[in-house]
Amino acid sequence: MKKQSILLPVLISLFSAIFSQGTFAGVPDFMPDSAATGGVRYAAAAHKLSRAIRFKTISETEEKNAFASEFTALHTYLEKAFPALHERLERKVLNKYSLLYTWPGSDPALKPVLLSAHLDVVPVEDASVKEWEQGAFSGLIDDLFIWGRGTLDDKYRVIAIMEAVEQLILAGFSPERTILLAFGHDEEIGGTEGAGAMSQFLQEKYERLEAVFDEGLAVTKGIFPGIAEPVAFIGTASKGSANFKLTVKGEGGHSSVPPTETPISILSQAIVNIGNNPFKARITPATKETLTILLDRLGGKSRFAMKHYGLFKGAIKKELAKNMATDALIRTKASPTIMQAGEKENVLPREATAVVNVRILTGESEESVQKHLVKAINDDRVQVTAYGAYSPPSPVANTNSWVYQALQNSISELFPDALIVPALFPGATDARHYANLTDNIFRFAPLVVTADDAMRVHNVNERLPLTVFDDCIDFYAHLIRQVADQEEYLVHKGEILK
Ligand SMILES: [Zn+2]
Repeated sequence: MKKQSILLPVLISLFSAIFSQGTFAGVPDFMPDSAATGGVRYAAAAHKLSRAIRFKTISETEEKNAFASEFTALHTYLEKAFPALHERLERKVLNKYSLLYTWPGSDPALKPVLLSAHLDVVPVEDASVKEWEQGAFSGLIDDLFIWGRGTLDDKYRVIAIMEAVEQLILAGFSPERTILLAFGHDEEIGGTEGAGAMSQFLQEKYERLEAVFDEGLAVTKGIFPGIAEPVAFIGTASKGSANFKLTVKGEGGHSSVPPTETPISILSQAIVNIGNNPFKARITPATKETLTILLDRLGGKSRFAMKHYGLFKGAIKKELAKNMATDALIRTKASPTIMQAGEKENVLPREATAVVNVRILTGESEESVQKHLVKAINDDRVQVTAYGAYSPPSPVANTNSWVYQALQNSISELFPDALIVPALFPGATDARHYANLTDNIFRFAPLVVTADDAMRVHNVNERLPLTVFDDCIDFYAHLIRQVADQEEYLVHKGEILK
């Protein structure tokens, strides 16, 4: 997930839970390896993750490709660690560091399914090195955890997906539907060169995909009073992102004889005006689905309010607006992030500028946001221009589709009593680059996230419990079987109906 995403505050304020140690009952074909001890089933896979963590695959905007050799060394390591996968799947390297694997299905008429994860990690700040209990790139394995940058975001998913494929091949499985594995190298800095290039390549080759599974939301426990069971949130839509530059020009001059208004005061007022004129609150289809399931589960007044949605819509919106995290789900949010003006204490600056970062709700666009800002500022001395990269709000995935059902089946295997809830994902991941290929994009990681874990993402002491890593491998094996083989899916569906 991206550093500037607001996922973390959402997780921290909403999600506080006890780590689930639940074991996974499905997929009996995989044998626990002989080195497995202490309840850990895939010790050899954990060792592969440990090795992968040691490559400092940091994506940096300033010194581009400073860690190029780390990426290529990781590629070489992966080849060694997953021999069956490399023999059976076609590998394509895009823009030198991103990896796209194709596992050809027996039926070329079926649209491929893509699993997306990323090879890059965020840097470790020099000042924080001493705060790590274990080396940030040590990949150390103790009795309970694998430690290091990438264990929660997102190398564990790369290795879990590859291990699942490796074991499926060894178990004799071959897909009917083509399965694609897309591992980007620059997700943390926007993903344009990695996922962006892979998406372009795939569009030329296949035109459309059946579905994309990426990181995003996760499972929570004990966050909603009245809901005891785990709640698995699946990101079925995500907000868009745009930046605007505000510019105010002035005459300059000496500060001893200033005009009543200067570029700095005009710009400051503009920013205050943006804050005073929030975007309109709206409950989008994805958020309505979230509320329908959660409020129905709560029962009583909540269920009644949702049943009479038309009557209670206003009250529900008011309630959601009270909390920073839930307010972000019902409206576009603009935040000033950069401001620049002036160089000398006695000189009036000739120009003042600010950058406003905007996270755009489904149904709006860069253009409509610009209109809103101009109207809110209400001062034509402030020039408002689009600035930098724009990604529109994503399409909304269909929760009545068979792929969503397959994902639900896989979640239910891992968390049998979980309530599964589609939701708007407020951040941005590599998935944004695949929106041109399918509406069925699902942003979900198969782990229970506690407030403590959320704090460790992009932070010191990132670590992953070994038993959770085991479950991730089983989860992806189950998911791949379901989406790659229609029969597997139907059999499972039959079991569920029984
Ligand atoms: Zn990530």
